[in-house]
Amino acid sequence: MEFKLNTYHRNTSKEELIEDLICVSKKLNKDYVSRSEYVACGKFSATPFIQNFGTWINALKAAGLSIERPKNDYLKIKDQELLEDVKLVATRLGKNSISTSEYNKYGKYKIQTLLIRFTTWNLALEKAGLTQTPYKIITDEMLFEEIEKIWINKGSQPTTTDIQKGLSQYSLNTYCRHFGGWRSTLEAFIKWINSPEENEPIKELNNVKAEEIKNSSGSNKTEITQQDLVDEKADNNRLSPVATSHKTSRDINVRLRFKILQRDNFKCCFCGASPAKDPSVELHVDHIIPWTKGGETTMDNLQTLCSKCNLGKSDLI
Ligand SMILES: [Zn+2]
Repeated sequence: MEFKLNTYHRNTSKEELIEDLICVSKKLNKDYVSRSEYVACGKFSATPFIQNFGTWINALKAAGLSIERPKNDYLKIKDQELLEDVKLVATRLGKNSISTSEYNKYGKYKIQTLLIRFTTWNLALEKAGLTQTPYKIITDEMLFEEIEKIWINKGSQPTTTDIQKGLSQYSLNTYCRHFGGWRSTLEAFIKWINSPEENEPIKELNNVKAEEIKNSSGSNKTEITQQDLVDEKADNNRLSPVATSHKTSRDINVRLRFKILQRDNFKCCFCGASPAKDPSVELHVDHIIPWTKGGETTMDNLQTLCSKCNLGKSDLI
């Protein structure tokens, strides 16, 4: 008895071949099936198709499938190539976990490509054999404050391009995950800025001051110094009827601050300087009638000044 290899294509009819080709097309949910895709998923090798139909295209035609390879199919980067690049960046940085911004900076591919392919950054890291980044809690408020910062520095509405260019410390994906899209992010931001909560009521003022004293030695976040508080106390003693009649707190909250900056077109009201034109310009929101002289923290008593004009002004008072 003659020993023969059991080859599939022997005696395979055209109908069987077409049937299996259609079956693969359905399985892959594609109108166009490439030779290699068929070989990877189909029952037969490519040879009987060529023997029966002459070319692969003819086989596709016979099966009633599309004969045009989709354009992006050519550009399709393999998962493995993406993951290798993630690993390469980690190796270069000498880390066992990398952030999206690190990959954005040093990686070969767009971060969006990786996120589309692997759904989340942590999954991409996992597949690349890297350690997942610890879950960082990012609140909506943190994102709003970041948008505010970009908006002020740019002097106009931030775009997705600004975020992708790296103006934000958070990725576009983070904003989209929180708010469902960039447009919705901006809408949520506007809603937040316009939300009715104005300044803290006067009764909380003592707590605010205590906080400020606590912070004044450490971070530079509050611009009020110990000396200011001493001065203010002296003023309060002298002008006690005025001081006690304050309806608003001295503190300008982030929402009100943004509204003033927006009203003043993100420019200094005295000299017109703006961070959009000169990144070294720092804008402050300042009381026109000083708070210590009875001025309130209200839209009409606040103005945008650059740090230079603001310091010049306080010298005059
Ligand atoms: Zn100025």
